Amino acid sequence: MRNLLIFLLALLGIWWVRRALTRARGERDAGNGKFAAPGRRVEHIVECAHCGVHVPETDGVRDGSHFYCCEAHRLAGPSKHD
Ligand SMILES: [Zn+2]
Repeated sequence: MRNLLIFLLALLGIWWVRRALTRARGERDAGNGKFAAPGRRVEHIVECAHCGVHVPETDGVRDGSHFYCCEAHRLAGPSKHD
């Protein structure tokens, strides 16, 4: 019974965070009407400095001048062969 309660609380937490994120994003778009020109939100595709995979900039991790596809590769650092 107690595990079920924790599970439900976790679900509620995930739902709440997702809702908060969606709302924050929506408000930013709606709030800056004059900046909301079409094509403003062009997603930059960047190459991971470690494995070379191309990912949207917002999905990856930036560390100084390097960009990585994930936190693990940021910790691993840039690949040696370039
Ligand atoms: Zn990578």
